[in-house]
Amino acid sequence: MPIDLELDDTVKVVRDFVHSFAQEKLRPLAREADTKEELPVETIRQLGELAGNRASVTPEERVESSGDGRKKIAAMIAVVGSEELAWGDAAVLLNIPGPGLAAPSIIASGTEGQKKKFLRDIFNVDSDEPRFGALAVTEAQAGSDVSNVQMTAVKDGDEWVLNGTKVFCTNGARAEIVIVNATLDKGSGREGQKFFVVPKGTEGFTVGKLEKKLGIRASETAELIFDDCRIPFDNILGGTEALEPKGSGFKGTMKAFDSSRPSVAAMALGIGRAAYEYVRDWVAAELPMTTSFPRKAAIEQKLAQMKRELGAARGLVWQAAWMADNEIPNSSQASMSKAYAPLAAMRTCIGAIQIMGPEGYSKEHLVEKWFRDIKVYDIFEGTGQIQRVVISRKVLGRLD
Ligand SMILES: Cc1cc2nc3c(=O)[nH]c(=O)nc-3n(C[C@H](O)[C@H](O)[C@H](O)COP(=O)(O)OP(=O)(O)OC[C@H]3O[C@@H](n4cnc5c(N)ncnc54)[C@H](O)[C@@H]3O)c2cc1C
Repeated sequence: MPIDLELDDTVKVVRDFVHSFAQEKLRPLAREADTKEELPVETIRQLGELAGNRASVTPEERVESSGDGRKKIAAMIAVVGSEELAWGDAAVLLNIPGPGLAAPSIIASGTEGQKKKFLRDIFNVDSDEPRFGALAVTEAQAGSDVSNVQMTAVKDGDEWVLNGTKVFCTNGARAEIVIVNATLDKGSGREGQKFFVVPKGTEGFTVGKLEKKLGIRASETAELIFDDCRIPFDNILGGTEALEPKGSGFKGTMKAFDSSRPSVAAMALGIGRAAYEYVRDWVAAELPMTTSFPRKAAIEQKLAQMKRELGAARGLVWQAAWMADNEIPNSSQASMSKAYAPLAAMRTCIGAIQIMGPEGYSKEHLVEKWFRDIKVYDIFEGTGQIQRVVISRKVLGRLD
């Protein structure tokens, strides 16, 4: 598979800008946000302003505004930016206003009118209030096994009536719009599922419990309850065409995963790189040449392993993004990046604690927080096991 390893000049500019933003604005908030398990609304508002409502434009618009008509670079910008933001802080990053995971589904499955209405019109308004979007797929009995989704959608006149409960939805409680999948026909598994846009405040849509978590504690994770929740007929993603036998539904989400998984992998990479750089600098400052030879040799080996594995992870992430930008089917590479980067970063975080010993376990340093934050990257957007199932099916030619 060909790959161009040279970053586009525009991507480099974005990377450098985002890195400064992450260093100056996100990293200083990391510890307090983790301890309090939230960020003050005023801080969230400021982050939104500073980030320029980062996710408010669709990838297509970002390509146009890059001023480079020859090359598409939206996916590269997404992964390079995600790595830098998560390097700053993964939980604070999820508090930056924008459509978040609602965007890839709308872009993949929405009509042009829906893209304008649910992305541009909602997120490009001149408002002081932070605006979020969310994607709610997971149910108590259906996460990896999406075919088991029990939430129903029934057409009643010119409305859809939704019933069911979604769990573990990032930013679900505060989202302006939540994208949910529901089944029109429980007997037909995934094929019977369609995606719907539910605006905040719709009657019959309430927020249940907010999760208390091991890591990314400052990120809000909510249970969402839909009880005879009525939304307009036009809120089905893909419009009336979605109801045709090959209309957008489950396959639309799979397409969305092809663009979101490399970005999530890039975030894992950002956490791993944060831990690697921190422990590298700690070693340089705390363990000068006087250190015993066996310990020094063990540390050198560990640092080399971290550097190597993070570099390999970045290669997979960039390849998946580069393929997306070049319109080459990338579901296998997207899954490879998502299967590998969180594990490489997890090993890096564990290694950082190991090198620092008890200091690494102490809240004096962020290493223990990165160790807690990284685990979820092997869970959401499809667990590591599920990525390996996707890869092996592709290897065996069964994915298409
Ligand atoms: C902090 C956080 C935020 C989240 N945000 C969102 C969100 O915004 N939107 C959303 O929809 N969901 C979200 N999720 C849910 C997440 O996507 C699911 O937890 C994940 O997809 C796994 O599904 P599950 O919880 O049902 O686990 P299960 O599918 O029950 O899996 C349990 C275990 O079994 C393994 N397993 C399952 N099937 C197989 C198989 N076929 N082969 C091998 N192993 C298998 C899994 O890998 C896992 O280790 C979030 C979760 C967390 C923790």
